[in-house]
Formats: sequence, structure tokens, C-alpha cells
Amino acid sequence: MPYQALKLTRGEDGATQARLERIAEDELPEGEVLVDVAYSSLNYKDALAITGKSPVVRSFPMVPGIDFAGTVRRSADPRFKPGDAVLLNGWGLGETRWGGLAQAARVPADWLLRLPAGMDARQAMAIGTAGYTAMLCVMALERHNATPEGGPVLVTGANGGVGTVAIALLAGQGYAVTASTGRPQEADYLYSLGASGILDRAALSGPGKPLQKEAWAAAVDCVGSHTLANVLAGMRYGAPVAACGLAQGMDLPATVAPFILRGVTLIGVDSVYAPMGLREEAWRRLAGELPRGMLEANTRELGLSEIAAAAEPLLEGRIRGRIVVDVNR
Ligand code: NDP
Repeated sequence: MPYQALKLTRGEDGATQARLERIAEDELPEGEVLVDVAYSSLNYKDALAITGKSPVVRSFPMVPGIDFAGTVRRSADPRFKPGDAVLLNGWGLGETRWGGLAQAARVPADWLLRLPAGMDARQAMAIGTAGYTAMLCVMALERHNATPEGGPVLVTGANGGVGTVAIALLAGQGYAVTASTGRPQEADYLYSLGASGILDRAALSGPGKPLQKEAWAAAVDCVGSHTLANVLAGMRYGAPVAACGLAQGMDLPATVAPFILRGVTLIGVDSVYAPMGLREEAWRRLAGELPRGMLEANTRELGLSEIAAAAEPLLEGRIRGRIVVDVNR
């Protein structure tokens, strides 16, 4: 039985084209486990892949989708059996390996996680790679001794997938969270997630002084570039910054001053090749710590056929929160 998939090809002019196609099972890549995908999600990286705005896709044709959740149909590995509820994110899915924006995926058993107790496939993808990355950021800050009592925390790219979940997680633990956003009209929403203050992102997005007022006891940065440089310059003595994103840019026009004069720690957060133990902990904690009501309010659902059109608005920062994808419609 053929499966519906979003497929990316590259035209002679080098432009990426995205269209819905039917793929046969024997076209799927090698792997021990065949999964009936129920939900995937649309992440910043997927939008880059679909629009071709950044060289995310390493070989064509490619099925995009850096994450999925679904049910095992067939497994040649004893760790999984038909009917098991599973999820997968990262490991090059949608970049070097056909991904989750399809009704089926065949993957190595070593990459699969069981859905944590109390979480269904739709909830897992409402969280998706973005929410899981937010949890990796929170865990990174904790490893560097951040505590709610330590002082205020800054989250940049606040209205995005990572930002919204990071705010909810940190506020849920009792942190005073300031949300940096270019969309002040969404302030009420950010307050409803638990933010206690809003900062106009324009205050951070231009060149700034190497050392600024010591404002923040910890920070999650989704934006990079001048924003991250200004965040570093505004950290309190010894404070950690978890950097995961590049929504403003890949560059980091900073000085070493925050590191050598204030002992600031910059922690890189990678979700794609994070070790299995860290992944399991992150997903287990997400199942317990993220209010379900928040997830629903933060999520819009689209069908597979609607995804290509949503990529551009996502890159332009016009989408709030998360997009979950029902691959069967
Ligand atoms: P979204 O597109 O959902 O959110 C990004 C947010 O960044 C926007 O909502 C906007 O927030 C802000 N933003 C957008 N453009 C700019 C700009 N030019 N200057 C300043 N802020 C801007 O993306 P995600 O939340 O899913 O991902 C955030 C970043 O993290 C991305 O760069 C993504 O690639 C990266 N990422 C990295 C991972 C890793 O493994 N390291 C995993 C997942 C994501 P607002 O409107 O509130 O200002």
C-alpha cells in the first residue's frame, strides 16, 4: 500500500520544490522498524528545508520532518513490537534521512523512543522537537546551578515553539521569566504561559556594549546574533545561558568580556544528536511538567497538504507557538 508523503526535490535552477506524493514501502530507507506515523510537526528547521532557504537537506529527493510519533507496524528488532507507541526526533531525520512528514517511516531501532507514560502521539508532536529542545535548555541551566531563587530568567524568541515551551516550563518551576519578543501584541498570551515581564526584542537586536547592566540570572536564547551577544553582556556574575537557536542569525558578534570578567557560561544545546539518556529524561519530564491546557492553547493542527504553505510564515515569525501535523489528512 503506498503512503502519502511530502517530498522535496531540487529543480535545475537549484530551487527546492515541495509536493505531496505517494511512496511505496520499498522506497523507504533501510531500518529495522516500520512505523505508521500519526503526527509530525512543523519546526523552524523543517521550514528552512521546505523553502530551501538554508542547506538543511543534504540529499534529494527528501521527505522532510525532523520528528514524528506513531505506532510500530513491523519490527526486526526485539526491543519493539507491532502496536508499540513510539516517537523519534533528530538523528538527521528530514536532513540526511527521510523524515516524519509522511504516513510511514522506516528507521533504525536505536533511534526510537517509547512514548512516555501519560503522553499520546498528538501531545508528543504538539511538544515536538521545539518543546523537547526547550526542556534540554532548562536541563542545561539546571546543570549549571540555575534555581528559581537565583533571580530573573530571560527567554528570547518568546513566541516561537522553543520560547513558548521554555516560558511554561520555567514559570512552572517558579522562575520569574521575562519574555523577549518582537510581537508585543502577544503579551497577554505570554503572561498566560507564566511570563512575568515582557522585553521588546528591539532592545537586544542591534549592536550593544560588551558589558551591560547585570540583569539576568539565567537565559534561554533562540535567536543568536546580536541578541545573544546582548544577552551575554547582560548576565549576572557566574550566570548560565543556554543557546539553541539562530532566528536572527548564525553569527555571534560578541566579546569575551562576559566570560572573563563575569564568569558567564555559554552552553550550546543540540537536540539532533543528544545522547539517548538525555532524550529519555527530557521526554519523561515533559510528560510530567508541561500543563496539558498550555499545549492545546499553544498548538495549531494542519494536514499534510497544508504544510508547504505554512513554512514561509513560520520563518517570518508570523506563527505563534507550535504546529502539529496530522499526516493522515
Ligand atoms: P519559531 O520560528 O517557532 O520561533 C522563532 C522565534 O524567534 C519567533 O517566533 C520570533 O519570536 C523570534 N524571531 C524570529 N525572527 C527573529 C529575528 N530576526 N530577530 C529576533 N527574533 C526573531 O522557531 P523555534 O522556536 O522552533 O526555534 C527557535 C530557534 O531554535 C530556531 O533558530 C531553530 O532553528 C532553533 N532550534 C534549534 C534546535 C537545536 O537542536 N539546537 C532544535 C530546535 C530549534 P518573537 O515573535 O516572540 O520575537
